[in-house]
Amino acid sequence: MVAASLTASSTVASHARLTDSHGRVIHDLRVSITDRCNYKCVYCRTGEEGAQYPELAIEEYLRLIRLFVDLGITKVRLTGGEPLLRHGLVDMVRQLARMRTLWDEPLDLALTTNGHLLDSLATPLKTAGLNRVTVSMDAVDAGVFERITRIAGSHKTVLGGIRAARAAGLTPLKINCVLLRGFNEDQIEGFARFAREEGVVVRFIEFMPLEEGRLWSPEIVVPLAEIVERIGRVLPLVELPPWEASETARRYTFSDGRGEIGVIAPVTRAFCGACSRVRLTSDGKIRTCLFSQVEHDLYGRMRAGASDEELRTYIFRTVQGKEARHHIGEPGFLKPSRSMVHIGG
Ligand code: SAM
Repeated sequence: MVAASLTASSTVASHARLTDSHGRVIHDLRVSITDRCNYKCVYCRTGEEGAQYPELAIEEYLRLIRLFVDLGITKVRLTGGEPLLRHGLVDMVRQLARMRTLWDEPLDLALTTNGHLLDSLATPLKTAGLNRVTVSMDAVDAGVFERITRIAGSHKTVLGGIRAARAAGLTPLKINCVLLRGFNEDQIEGFARFAREEGVVVRFIEFMPLEEGRLWSPEIVVPLAEIVERIGRVLPLVELPPWEASETARRYTFSDGRGEIGVIAPVTRAFCGACSRVRLTSDGKIRTCLFSQVEHDLYGRMRAGASDEELRTYIFRTVQGKEARHHIGEPGFLKPSRSMVHIGG
């Protein structure tokens, strides 16, 4: 039995901090609470409906998250699939907001969403203790947006969700836009204006080979250098210092200081060396990298009756083995067995 294979002499103290064998401190946990999604973004999903993986009960996620927090996690981001589809989410946030870090501080609680259900959920989530949201929005133009999401009316609904989140104080509000050549790269300049007009931080993301289908190629990636150059032609940019060493985005403001954009460039400027993240999938598997070839069945151990101490030891050892970096674009690169929607972005 799995749980029995961990002996008392090999357990870690609950106050040990998660680190990996490359010297990185891991303090950021992303938890997928469903792999269902109500959008079918063309670059992410094939268009098939439904979940592929089971979901845990909210109480089970909370127990597992607690164990990570015991090991030094300070930031938890809920994601999916589409996390706002998950029944019990507001109560889950309320319970997470009560957790304290190893340093007796509240968790930094964030959520990534497509924004479709945010209009009605923004205020309850804020009241429950959520700090921030990131909304995915891949075009400012309604026609382009709806061709990408494959959902009629989605542009207006998501804009409403963004404004509701801002009004609820889920700030700084970040908008994530994945850029693909031939799909939405003509939206770059419009997004720069949108960032200023709406008072949101727009972050462009380079497309990674994590889609359900087979769309990715190096040519479809719109690289950081091109994004910055294109915006700079219409609105001059000034680079800002990172908030923290593990910051994924290069940050820029406009030359008049009003507004902010960021570029997350995992393909052309990989930031693995400063990675502080680990992921838990909706079915309770630990993924130490988006591109991991192996998953670690934490939930299986919990279901088999492992104690908190045994589970913490398992988490600690698993994170020690975190991959040094991804190998996108290199010969022999292998896509992971799960796509982004099933891992939790
Ligand atoms: N449903 C939520 C949402 O739309 O934000 C959360 C899950 S979604 C998988 C998380 C983020 O991953 C979104 O911003 C999405 O655009 C991004 N994403 C999906 N596939 C991607 C890929 N292949 N490369 C880069 N980002 C991707």
